[in-house]
Amino acid sequence: ESLVRPAADEPERAAEAALRPRRLEEFVGQRVVRDQLSLVLQAALGRGLAPDHVLLSGPPGLGKTTLAMIIAAELGASLRVTSGPAIQHAGDLAAVLSSLEEGEVLFIDEIHRLARPAEELLYVAMEDFRVDVIVGKGAGASAIPLSLPPFTVVGATTRAGLLPAPLRDRFGFTGHLDFYADDELERVLVRSAGLLGVPLEGTAAAEIASRSRGTPRIANRLLRRVRDWAQVRGDGRLSLAAARSALQVYEVDERGLDRLDRSVLDALCRRFGGGPVGLTTLAVAVGEEPETVETVAEPFLVREGLIGRTSRGRVALPPAWEHLGLPVPAPSDT
Ligand code: ADP
Repeated sequence: ESLVRPAADEPERAAEAALRPRRLEEFVGQRVVRDQLSLVLQAALGRGLAPDHVLLSGPPGLGKTTLAMIIAAELGASLRVTSGPAIQHAGDLAAVLSSLEEGEVLFIDEIHRLARPAEELLYVAMEDFRVDVIVGKGAGASAIPLSLPPFTVVGATTRAGLLPAPLRDRFGFTGHLDFYADDELERVLVRSAGLLGVPLEGTAAAEIASRSRGTPRIANRLLRRVRDWAQVRGDGRLSLAAARSALQVYEVDERGLDRLDRSVLDALCRRFGGGPVGLTTLAVAVGEEPETVETVAEPFLVREGLIGRTSRGRVALPPAWEHLGLPVPAPSDT
């Protein structure tokens, strides 16, 4: 099991929940989105009305769920949580919508994965605060319009581009979360170590931050593994040496690449001669879903300048060969 995968099991979710900032001012980094959101929320509070619907986009683990919770907390509203994949039928969504109370915040994670009928129902509800409840079956079925109290949808997506325009247009505000700088991740780590009550040394915080791929979720996860190492094999202190030893055990390298990233690079360079190769072919070669390769491994590998996306597929860039300790092929070979 990899430390950078988005999949969170129950203990992991509990561990994450304990480290979530509760208010906007505790939320580290993302200054632009935080400023914009703070305006939207203060204006709504001032008017005493539910704010516009909010769309949050960005790679996994950057704080979309956390921000949704913060939005509800700042509004003093309760939060309902669902996700695109959890809604199988439009009827499931109609049931959720028709049970909303005035001012509630409805968080829809992975909103780009909603099925089409649910999506259509949602944008009518977002625009007109109305849902058509279908009564009866077959030829005798009829739609009874039910009006909804004002509420706010917070949608989260790893890829805003996948949302159909009619749905995207219903959001009055879109915040794009970007990868965190190392010093921001250090602040996340120091805050988390404080909450966990573990002594994190500054050099260790910097080391963990630099291997966390710009992602708070990963930073917190690595912190917990370093804590384990310090407890079991060290003297309890989270020192630079403890951080390095722990991250070696968990196969997270100096650039923060894990096993999946390295196998993507490895397949690209060794099996496909540096590409170009299509996403699906590449995913099969590493034994993963294309979506996992595309949303988990690729954004980071692209950002690091290790791989490139071209119209003909993925290509290895010179730093990829260097990272694997392979000679960089001359341009005429690729
Ligand atoms: P997403 O919904 O984008 O996948 P989450 O909101 O679940 O990400 O965040 C993952 C973890 O990272 C949580 O434990 C959260 O506390 C932490 N985290 C995310 N963003 C921040 C931040 N800006 N400041 C502090 N902690 C953060």
